[in-house]
Parts: sequence; structure tokens; C-alpha cells
Amino acid sequence: MRKPIIAGNWKMYKTASEAKQFVEEVNGLVPNTEKLDAVICAPALFLAQLVVSSKESALQIGAQTMSEQDEGAFTGEISPVQLADIGVKYVIIGHSERRQYFGETDKSVNQKVKAAFAHDLVPILCVGETLEHRENGETGSVVEAQVEKGISGLSEEQITQLVIAYEPIWAIGTGKTATAEDANEVCGIVRKKVASLYEDQTAEQLRIQYGGSVKPANVDELMGMEHIDGALVGGASLEVESFVKLLEAGS
Ligand code: 13P
Repeated sequence: MRKPIIAGNWKMYKTASEAKQFVEEVNGLVPNTEKLDAVICAPALFLAQLVVSSKESALQIGAQTMSEQDEGAFTGEISPVQLADIGVKYVIIGHSERRQYFGETDKSVNQKVKAAFAHDLVPILCVGETLEHRENGETGSVVEAQVEKGISGLSEEQITQLVIAYEPIWAIGTGKTATAEDANEVCGIVRKKVASLYEDQTAEQLRIQYGGSVKPANVDELMGMEHIDGALVGGASLEVESFVKLLEAGS
């Protein structure tokens, strides 16, 4: 059985005081941890404070991106060493917004995934097609290629710890959710691709999230699908009430 994982991706929202207040409110409301991993991926600026604020709670803190380098003259970057040092547990890698606006490629994404594992961070590797890909019937091949390149060189053990988030770009922040069946189909394609590269039981342990306009109203149906083990949530993770509802659905 795969443990569900609900992760909020706050993107570039919230002030320090709003972030602290959110985490303090959510801390006591995170359901039974045996059954669920609950994560908030916050702006880097707040990570250290949020790790401290959530210390007594089951809520875990993640970053939204990181450098593939351990250290060096890379102005503005944050390294996996620095994230691990302050107690961050997860890191989103290769979000479509990073690929689109910040030039991240499958190659740099793969380097970051490896760097995360090297410092005991759990990478949430994002993949997903554009609307154009989908309309051209290229969803499967695009996502398979992103998966294969993104996980290149990982061990069987690392695959069992990895999280892959399938986020169709046309469904992010648009209010358009993939149907649960469509989302499940692509998550199944991801698992099958991994099974073609690793042992079957390794692919069975891989956790796959769906992301793209997930909200309390659609999370149950998505989570009920065979290959969907969780959600990566933008907008609906910004309010305590809706985030907690998502956690309840996941547990
Ligand atoms: P929304 O839930 O706002 O569509 O964002 C999805 C996303 O990009 C999460 O990483």
C-alpha cells in the first residue's frame, strides 16, 4: 500500500506573518500521520521559520525548487545542503513554471533530483504536457520522456522514495481539472514507464500525485483512482480550511 501524500505549493504567495499563522493553525489539524504525508512547500524565505513552527506537528515543510550544486558562487540560489540543514524534508523539482520561466530542462531537473537524494531530501518531480501536446495526442510520449530523463541514474531504492507529480500544464491555475479518468490514465502511463526501467515492485511503491486545480470538491474522486496517490495543490492550499479538507480526504 502506498501512503497518500498531499502537498501544498504556495508558489510566490503569503507574507511571513501569514505563513506563520497558517502553519500554527494547521499544525493541530493534520490528521493521523500513519495514513498520510502532509506537506507545505513554502517560499524559501519562510522555510526556516516554518520548520520551527511545525516541529511538534505532523506537517512537513518543503521547498519549491533548489540548486543542483552543494555550494558555490551562484548568486540567489539555495542549495540542498542548506535546505537539509534547516530541516526541510521535501523539494519540488521541475515544476512547469520553473521549466517555462526559468529555463529548467530535463537535464537540470535530473541533476536536481539526484542532488536532493544526495542530501536526504525527497524530490517531488513534476511532469506534464501542454494543451498543444494533449490536442496532438502527444501526452503519453511527452510525459514518458520527462519521466525517463528526470529519473535517469536513480537506484531502485530511490525510486521507492521518490514522488512524481503529474501536472497537466493546461490544468494549472485555470480551474480546469483533468477528469479523474484522464488523470489516472496518465499516472498509469508514468507507473508503466517506471516499471519498464525498474523492477515491477519498485514501480508499485512509487507515489504519484495529480496536480492542477485540485480542490475539496474534486479531491475524493481523484484520490479514489488506482494510480493517484496524492495531490500537489496550488490555489486550494493557501487557505487553512480548504487545505485541511484536502488532508481529510487524503487520510
Ligand atoms: P493549482 O492547484 O492552483 O491549479 O496549481 C497546481 C500546481 O501548479 C501545484 O504545483
